[in-house]
Amino acid sequence: MTATFESLGLPGPLLASLAKAGFDTPTKIQAEAIPHQLKGKDILGIAQTGSGKTAAFGLPILAGLQALPGRPRPMTARALILVPTRELAVQIDEALRKMAGSMRLTTVLVLGGVSRYNQVQKLAKGVDICIATPGRMKDLVDDDKVWLSETRWLILDEADRMLDMGFIGPVKEIASKISWKRQTALFSATMAPEISKLAEGLLREPVRVEATVPGT
Ligand code: ADP
Ligand code: MG
Repeated sequence: MTATFESLGLPGPLLASLAKAGFDTPTKIQAEAIPHQLKGKDILGIAQTGSGKTAAFGLPILAGLQALPGRPRPMTARALILVPTRELAVQIDEALRKMAGSMRLTTVLVLGGVSRYNQVQKLAKGVDICIATPGRMKDLVDDDKVWLSETRWLILDEADRMLDMGFIGPVKEIASKISWKRQTALFSATMAPEISKLAEGLLREPVRVEATVPGT
């Protein structure tokens, strides 16, 4: 039987905005990863570009945020998504906003090469989701511009590219500031030994999901 977004256990308001965005059927990685994440499991995802990773990690976060009371506290981010490039960060922010529909959601893009000022201002108020490249994020963490004590979700997207770009050091340092009560998901197109080692250090009893054929 083909999975539907409803059968994956996502809440009603999200189903409505997915339908509006034209998402009828979950992709393989979405169908495999989302139910585990809704149960609080860590995920190790081996998936290529175009397999639908953004919704695979984004929808469980949005579902979890809907269930949390109140607003994020000042200087905190409830979810942190680490990505290798600015372009990817911007795309993920747009996709998450679309999926969130009318849900109240605050996000911040923390990227290198642009002024820190607006990033610091937004973090000072507290955000639901921070989407960041590792270098700038580490700078802001080191300068106490954001506290990761209340971060419940950590996502590492395109971990293999972060490795190639020399970001594994900052990724590890950022992750070490986040409580083990968090839920973590790591996605990578390949499973090089360094990625396996990184996953071992950051994930707890992860469920392994795979999608090698785009869009299936
Ligand atoms: P990846 O991060 O794995 O490269 P994306 O999450 O960017 O993939 O998704 C690739 C494209 O597929 C995007 O344009 C996205 O809107 C679309 N997409 C993702 N999931 C679905 C779905 N379940 N139904 C229809 N389109 C989808
Ligand atoms: Mg992607």
